[in-house]
Amino acid sequence: MNDYMVIGGGVMGLLLARQLAADGATVTVVEQGVCFGEASWAGGGIVSPLYPWRYSSAVSALAFQAQLAYPRLVEELLAETGLDAELEHTGLLMLDTDDESEALSWAAETGKNVQSVSSEFIRAREPGLSRSFTRGLWMPEIANVRNPRLGQALLKSLHSNPHVQILEQTSVVSLTGDGTRILRADILREGRQESLTAGAFVVTAGAWSRNLLAGLGIELPVVPVKGQMLLFRPERRLISTMLLTAGRYIIPRRDNHLLVGSTLEHTGFDKSTTEEALTSLHDSAVALLPELAKYPVTQQWAGLRPGAPQGIPFIGRAGKWENLYVNAGHYRNGLVLAPASAKLLADILLGRRPDIDPRPYDPCSNR
Ligand SMILES: Cc1cc2nc3c(=O)[nH]c(=O)nc-3n(C[C@H](O)[C@H](O)[C@H](O)COP(=O)(O)OP(=O)(O)OC[C@H]3O[C@@H](n4cnc5c(N)ncnc54)[C@H](O)[C@@H]3O)c2cc1C
Repeated sequence: MNDYMVIGGGVMGLLLARQLAADGATVTVVEQGVCFGEASWAGGGIVSPLYPWRYSSAVSALAFQAQLAYPRLVEELLAETGLDAELEHTGLLMLDTDDESEALSWAAETGKNVQSVSSEFIRAREPGLSRSFTRGLWMPEIANVRNPRLGQALLKSLHSNPHVQILEQTSVVSLTGDGTRILRADILREGRQESLTAGAFVVTAGAWSRNLLAGLGIELPVVPVKGQMLLFRPERRLISTMLLTAGRYIIPRRDNHLLVGSTLEHTGFDKSTTEEALTSLHDSAVALLPELAKYPVTQQWAGLRPGAPQGIPFIGRAGKWENLYVNAGHYRNGLVLAPASAKLLADILLGRRPDIDPRPYDPCSNR
């Protein structure tokens, strides 16, 4: 029997498994599809909340710690696996924001680098940007990570870790307890039902977490929020900075690929892409960067964000169960928050003193 069963192999599950195994614990990761195949693959990988001053201090606390942790994480994974998650400090240019003074006050309070910039700065920084943008906010320190590569690197590292077992194409159908402790997970693998046990169980099932916990009488208000994205593959570098306006963004990757995101749709667990989103995202992208009109969209996809109230994730022990924990509900910020969120839960599980106050994320609190 392994010490922990981690249910869900997205960024939350894999980073938690890495943290626990680093402390010598044994971990089974159970993933119903392929690891990093859902929101963690679909996301844009901006290592900051969009408009970070609009978030609560609970989200900022995790974001600040994770932003510091990312360079080391990516370096360690590169050294261990040879796979580069391409953390690129491109900076983020936010155009025509209507709450500039709030942003600058937040920057003064938190010590973050946010600058109000003029059209001259914007043009010098990104000559291809539409001339219609005359004011902006510039955050030079913001990075993006190539999240599918992060997933590949994490998986390669975990596959070679003797403390970690990864079961893909294996779905946890239900959890069974004796009223105090969870005793086993009932799983479905290759059409067969089996039971697996562990010392403790952690639900990192993203948008699906609510369903799993509902069977135990736990009401976790996490809902799927669909996001659609587009990919362009220009043959040359069109921009070197992440651009954001009215909630729509363009992310440049190292190989000149440009990701355009994203929609926010409450359509349940439906992950289909739509013509409407294609047109809307395409129009937003061309309004930012007119030259993009010359290039075809080479890919469109959708993912399900795990939406929680105020975007504050649930991290900690779940309900009355002594050995049941959750790390879910990171909404639009799971990639940025993941290293800090996994560390906080690992600290709780391993009895270490957490360096972030866990109370705002308590799954048992009423929100
Ligand atoms: C379009 C889009 C853009 C985004 N952009 C960004 C961004 O720029 N920056 C950022 O920080 N965040 C971004 N996000 C949000 C981020 O992707 C998510 O918050 C994050 O990936 C959530 O990670 P997770 O591990 O909780 O969930 P997931 O990655 O969804 O992983 C959960 C896993 O659990 C598995 N699972 C579910 N139920 C079971 C079960 N019963 N048994 C076994 N396995 C199960 C699923 O198959 C899945 O693989 C974006 C999301 C989307 C959709």
